Amino acid sequence: MSSLIASSSEQPRVNLLGLTLAQMEAFFENLGEKKFRAQQVLKWIHHQGETDIAAMTNLGKALREKLLQIAEVRPPEIVSQHDSTDGTRKWAIRVEGGGLVESVLIPDGNRATLCVSSQVGCSLDCSFCSTGKQGFQRDLSAAEIIGQVWLAIKSYDAFQSGNGRIVTNVVMMGMGEPLLNFDNVVSAMNLMMEDLAYGISKRRVTLSTSGVVPALDKLAQVSEVSLAISLHAPNDALRSELVPINRKYPIAMLLESASRYIDAQSDKKRVVTIEYTLIAGVNDQPDQARELAQLLRDFPCKINLIPFNPFDQSDYRRPSGNAVSRFWQVLVDAGYIVTVRTTRGDDIDAACGQLVGQVVDRTGRSERYRNASALSASEVR
Ligand code: SAH
Ligand code: SF4
Repeated sequence: MSSLIASSSEQPRVNLLGLTLAQMEAFFENLGEKKFRAQQVLKWIHHQGETDIAAMTNLGKALREKLLQIAEVRPPEIVSQHDSTDGTRKWAIRVEGGGLVESVLIPDGNRATLCVSSQVGCSLDCSFCSTGKQGFQRDLSAAEIIGQVWLAIKSYDAFQSGNGRIVTNVVMMGMGEPLLNFDNVVSAMNLMMEDLAYGISKRRVTLSTSGVVPALDKLAQVSEVSLAISLHAPNDALRSELVPINRKYPIAMLLESASRYIDAQSDKKRVVTIEYTLIAGVNDQPDQARELAQLLRDFPCKINLIPFNPFDQSDYRRPSGNAVSRFWQVLVDAGYIVTVRTTRGDDIDAACGQLVGQVVDRTGRSERYRNASALSASEVR
């Protein structure tokens, strides 16, 4: 942990926003301070929303002065914020060194689900995803990932409101492949679930992956978050076209790994969410629904159908409502629990994997960016 301690003259300050409880404790121990300081600082940052170390009054003056030399609490910068008429709120966030990512909060009855990004761009190049078209730029730090939760709560001025939680659920379904930014994503998810930070239950934090099998096996050793698998096809031939990483880790391997993940959980009742983006004429035929039903027959899952969200550089089309219903019916008749993701935030381009958008910031400057894949709130038909 000594690398976390920066000398003010040589190294950048440590951003305390991204440190888990264990990391924060190690940080204070390395400073020769008591471990319980970590709990105090976590509460200041994640319960109170405090970024000013000088205002953390229970730390004592000498410690605050020491911290001011070597540490900071630095959330990422909001470039723009948009509210949809349906209550969805979307942020474009600038991360250090340039690059924009997006997060979206989707209220739905008593819940509000925040869709969080894990990378700037993505290297996996799925054929239907605008983030993939952008290529990979870089991993987000743990501070930039948990910072999206922090900013969402801050934007409602709700750190001290006591009016219930603004963010009740988190889905790692924004830009990027979370399992390719393993350590930072795991740290950020730990903070989401940590009582001294956001205290969201493990069932309400969901990691979505296109199937990085070795990393998924590793996740089973360290995390109990809910799992969503981006399947999108009922066989390897089609899946390899849509989700190129399937050539390396084909469907059988992926489902076995996901089963191992579920088996490793202490709560034996959990199931995997299978995400299936429906693309007109590509993977939305009733025969393909039957093949999917057959493929998943022994797999503990529920299925979430996502009608494709079109974007500029894609020739794919969204299926008709009838085609979605037909696909859904086949799966329901086969005994599956199937939800269809409703498009939310349409008026602010907040839908899944949607286009290259136009961000206009408060000063009126605009810049091109890729929209994150977003939505999470699904609706049972
Ligand atoms: N990389 C991870 C998480 C981000 S993508 C993954 O692939 O799972 C989150 C979800 O949005 C995935 O299920 C993805 O397939 C879906 N998605 C991406 N682009 C989409 C689009 N244009 N229309 C509908 N869903 C899309
Ligand atoms: Fe990456 Fe997920 Fe988009 Fe595929 S769907 S390119 S894995 S963000």
